[in-house]
Amino acid sequence: VSKFEGVTMAPPDPILGVSEAFKASTNQSKLNLGVGAYRTEELQPYVLDVVKKAENLMIERGENKEYLPIEGLAAFNKVTAELLFGADNPVIKQQKVATVQGLSGTGSLRLAAALIERYFPGAKVLISSPTWGNHKNIFNDSRVPWSEYRYYDPKTVGLDFEGMISDIKAAPEGSFVLLHGCAHNPTGIDPTPDQWEKIADVIQEKNHIPFFDVAYQGFASGSLDTDAASVRLFAARDLELLVAQSYSKNLGLYAERIGAINVVCTSSDTATRVKSQLKRIARPMYSNPPVHGARIVANVVGDPTLFGEWKAEMEMMAGRIKNVRQKLYDNLTAKDKSGKDWSFILKQIGMFSFTGLNKAQTENMTNKWHVYMTKDGRISLAGLSLAKCEYLSDAIIDSYH
Ligand code: PMP
Repeated sequence: VSKFEGVTMAPPDPILGVSEAFKASTNQSKLNLGVGAYRTEELQPYVLDVVKKAENLMIERGENKEYLPIEGLAAFNKVTAELLFGADNPVIKQQKVATVQGLSGTGSLRLAAALIERYFPGAKVLISSPTWGNHKNIFNDSRVPWSEYRYYDPKTVGLDFEGMISDIKAAPEGSFVLLHGCAHNPTGIDPTPDQWEKIADVIQEKNHIPFFDVAYQGFASGSLDTDAASVRLFAARDLELLVAQSYSKNLGLYAERIGAINVVCTSSDTATRVKSQLKRIARPMYSNPPVHGARIVANVVGDPTLFGEWKAEMEMMAGRIKNVRQKLYDNLTAKDKSGKDWSFILKQIGMFSFTGLNKAQTENMTNKWHVYMTKDGRISLAGLSLAKCEYLSDAIIDSYH
């Protein structure tokens, strides 16, 4: 009898499990709208040209495979913080940011969670309802208590701003407030600039600590600066804050696991100490991070020509998603005879659209139409082509009614 007899079967992951089910399907019309990964109009994975060029540079230079320091590649840490805050930002100039390379967005969030667990015992993290499913896993595994604030209003398929503000106000002083920097996952609904100011007001009033998850910088609007505006607005208020970054989507480096955790402190001295503790947390977890993706980012952002080409490719990707979003809306509006207002789809931003389909309706999408998606009604528009929009709108209309 096995020593592991007591180990029960774990449930499939709600997002990555969808890809597994999709792979197993033999239907010709099948569509994978589960995982948030960019696809071309031909629905093929896409490696950015600038990434290939950056990789060629690495080969030409004959770079070695020695270990990185615990905190990661220095050139990467420098450019990643500058990309986020802007190179001229006082927090950068005054060296108030502790930046440590992480294992993409997830690993960076995990480092921050461990820091919270160690230095803020009992402090709660407030997360939006709903949020990216892995947030709860990350805080649970780090033994950091969390609770939810209202975010999504099913009546309007929009933001429940009043609910959000009152829940942030009601939380114990000094809580961490997890915010999606742009392109909220799963809803695609972001606060307006004016609403961001009001969110910052309550956070400041309550002595909370803002904790940004930035997984889509540049990918939402097509502009790196526009998508970082929320984070910069908080930094401009001289608040201490945490920001996790990911290059999975905006540079298409999903499997390279490249990202960072940034902690903005009130002084460079504090930042140095915070960084030393982040390193201490990383060392027994994975020792030091992988170099390949870090070099790609450093080469792309550090070279003016490649940087320009990256921006153009990012605009192209964001543009394709916007076109698909528009076409889906057009098809739904033309074909749905019920008079339902589909304009919420156009108001959403980023890779995802929250359709408002409930669990039973999403099951109809998958079982009858072979459209693979998460049960919360989210679809990844990055996995949709213009050619498939009509098929998808038929599936959505059939499932709704
Ligand atoms: N945060 C959010 C909100 C995300 O959507 C994602 C990717 N799905 C991540 C973090 C992290 O992704 P990764 O670990 O690949 O960077």
